Amino acid sequence: MSIYPHARFLISAAAAAQFPNDAGAEVAIVGRSNAGKSSAINAIVGRRNLARTSKTPGRTRLLNFFELAPQARLIDLPGYGYAAGPREELQSWAGLIEQLAPRQSLHGLLLVVDARRGILPGDQQLLDWAQSIGRPVHVLFSKSDQITRAQGQQLLRASAPALQGRGSAQLFSAHEGVGLLEARAQLDAWLASQQKESPGSTRE
Ligand code: GDP
Repeated sequence: MSIYPHARFLISAAAAAQFPNDAGAEVAIVGRSNAGKSSAINAIVGRRNLARTSKTPGRTRLLNFFELAPQARLIDLPGYGYAAGPREELQSWAGLIEQLAPRQSLHGLLLVVDARRGILPGDQQLLDWAQSIGRPVHVLFSKSDQITRAQGQQLLRASAPALQGRGSAQLFSAHEGVGLLEARAQLDAWLASQQKESPGSTRE
């Protein structure tokens, strides 16, 4: 069953001018290439192939916007972090995500991290960036079916300092449905939260 029955792909965009209107609420989902981001999207949204769009050749270097419900969007970012990747690639990735910073509707980021690897320097940079723009991050330690329960608990403990004051973390497995409800609850909470107050606006 789909949790967001009207979920649909909106647009692939490289530049802010093409982004949907900055209204309502949105959550960006990020992570290293192969971390399990597409699998996480499909599992959380409850649609087997929604994220396939983001893997369509030509769209893998773009921001892919999905509408989950009216005025509620998920933004799928390209995977980052092939360590050997050219510097320009890193810079163009940074340039892409930087364009999200001014968006009032960006309420939080889901960061997908392979539980077997833990938080790596690229993830740390993302955490720093999110903190610098004042947005919370929720880490999904993906593929948790590949580690033991004790390793999972150790991972959560070990990552606590890196997340201090920046966000939260949980274990997640798209394949086995671990942590689905928790991940959806975080996504829904951000999507339901009020738009950040802008100068001149009044709070309802
Ligand atoms: P992306 O590149 O971050 O979008 O990652 P994908 O979702 O395409 O997944 C990358 C690889 O990890 C694929 O081989 C998936 O089958 C595998 N994978 C994704 N989620 C899980 C999971 O929950 N458990 C396991 N064991 N493998 C997973």
